[in-house]
Amino acid sequence: MIQGTPSVARLRNKISHAEIDRTLFAMMADRHDREILRRLIISEFFSSETGSHIQEIREFGRSSFDYASSLDELLKSPFEIDHTKDEGNVYQTVNQQVRDRGFSMKVRMAYDYTCAVCRGKVITPEGRTLVDGAHILPLNTTNNNDPRNGLALCKTHHWMFDHYMLTVRPNYRLQLSDWLSLEDNNAEETLRWADSEILLPAESGLFPAGLALQDHNKRFQEAQT
Ligand SMILES: [Zn+2]
Repeated sequence: MIQGTPSVARLRNKISHAEIDRTLFAMMADRHDREILRRLIISEFFSSETGSHIQEIREFGRSSFDYASSLDELLKSPFEIDHTKDEGNVYQTVNQQVRDRGFSMKVRMAYDYTCAVCRGKVITPEGRTLVDGAHILPLNTTNNNDPRNGLALCKTHHWMFDHYMLTVRPNYRLQLSDWLSLEDNNAEETLRWADSEILLPAESGLFPAGLALQDHNKRFQEAQT
């Protein structure tokens, strides 16, 4: 070690605590002041182009979260398949990307970020998750973002669900396509879940709707022939 260089342990002792300026701390604790600070930091340290991107991303995250919370309203009424005629409510005024993200947030959270089929759960340090919030009734024909029209599925099982390689019966049991057992396929991991009950949300009000599952079952059967 070079003479006079502090050891790692001594350095660690020196930085074991830090003090935040009292005024700064008070500003960080206040919602309005926090926003001013945020804008100040962005304008100070980023180009105006990057700064506006950061603001957009932040705005997108906040709008998606608000939209996800607003979906709770739908849970107060019986499940309906068709939402294409919804006029003037949040459905029509929020842009599609915000809706997709908000729906996915709500569904993934309901299943604790776990695949309803294989129970896979992976969250990266950045908060990205293995599971998607999958629609049971297709969004393009029903406009249905009711959380009961969702299932949290990992990428593999989302793909299989969308391609009718598997379906979930209204008794919440899994039904697999015979195609998965064909010699050329290797779907052992999925086959072991055949006929088992899927993982359900902790909150029964968020269970997948029977009407939506029946509709998927019907399309699944048609795809098998
Ligand atoms: Zn899975």
